[in-house]
Amino acid sequence: GLKSGIVGLPNVGKSTLFNALCENGKAEAANYPFCTIEANSGVVAVPDDRLQVLSGITKSKTVIPTSVEFVDIAGLVKGASKGEGLGNQFLANIRECDSIVQVVRCFEDDNVIHVAGKVDPLADIDVINFELALADIGQIERRLERLARGRAKSKEEIAAAEVEKGALERIMAGLDENIPARKTPLSEDELPLVRGLQLLTMKPITYAANVAEGDLADSASGNKHVALLRGKAAEEGCDVIVVSAQVESELKELDSEEAAEFLASLGASESGLSSLVRTSYQQLGLRTYFTTGEKETRAWTIRAGMTAPQAAGVIHTDFEKGFIRAETVAYDAFVAAGGEKEARERGQLRLEGKEYVVQEGDVMNFRFNV
Ligand code: GDP
Repeated sequence: GLKSGIVGLPNVGKSTLFNALCENGKAEAANYPFCTIEANSGVVAVPDDRLQVLSGITKSKTVIPTSVEFVDIAGLVKGASKGEGLGNQFLANIRECDSIVQVVRCFEDDNVIHVAGKVDPLADIDVINFELALADIGQIERRLERLARGRAKSKEEIAAAEVEKGALERIMAGLDENIPARKTPLSEDELPLVRGLQLLTMKPITYAANVAEGDLADSASGNKHVALLRGKAAEEGCDVIVVSAQVESELKELDSEEAAEFLASLGASESGLSSLVRTSYQQLGLRTYFTTGEKETRAWTIRAGMTAPQAAGVIHTDFEKGFIRAETVAYDAFVAAGGEKEARERGQLRLEGKEYVVQEGDVMNFRFNV
């Protein structure tokens, strides 16, 4: 499944945010560094209004959204890549994630200790990103040694090793100048060779600016810390999402009507967590297709470019193996027609074969041999 790791310095609000994300999350928020020792994980639904529309049309008994798994990763400190603090554990956990959410403290509160003594988001980010880069440098060095030692085998293997070496050396040169691996351009030949290393700075990052509740309003530019963070993220080509961990942890205690009222009173249109979940999903180049009927309406996650059989395989591997064809209609056409029957009569329901690349929002029905 799809996994996003929540990282950040100790005491920036990771656990509070994580707990709000996964209402039953077990992470414990406490006012001292090294509080979160275990990697905790929780599965969060991806909000999607289209599900309700479809289930209204087909009168489904249940609605099943797609999800993202969030992992609360233990506190990272300076020196983590050298195994200090909980560093090694941190790095192993983050390597397994598809993307990273870096929580950055943008709230002032004298009662909450800051590990570096003051609120300074850019310095905090540098600490984290530096450790990620150091970990990658170590990983690349080990890989280059192995490639150098590698006994020459077939011509193809020697050629592939050369391509990989070239790519890793360029990434390394970038890292030495504080350029994350994701910013080093790689060719189509290089990318699959490098991907196997699961470099930390290759993973997309979203910065979650944790602000005080007064800074949450849509109209507010946040605060000076958020402004600095936005500038930095723009340089890196990353997204910034403004959240208030404290507000989120209060929201989860309220029913949806009360929650909407509370957000409105703060001048905010939606919970920061909703946009965090959506951004994580989009960032990974993921697409959604739907199945809908009386039994259920369900959203399924695929990667951009997946074909109809591959998409069917997300439901069940047997669907992929025995794939015959797919009845497909675009979400908008399905809704405009008011259902499958009418869409068919309008000629908008198509029969697609093995080569069809599934599009965002397709409503699908698979035919397969068992
Ligand atoms: P972590 O170490 O990054 O997981 O941080 P925690 O979530 O455990 O939070 C550390 C402390 O900061 C706790 O006492 C929280 O209640 C407090 N805290 C978290 N978010 C906020 C916030 O948005 N505003 C304020 N004032 N305090 C917060």
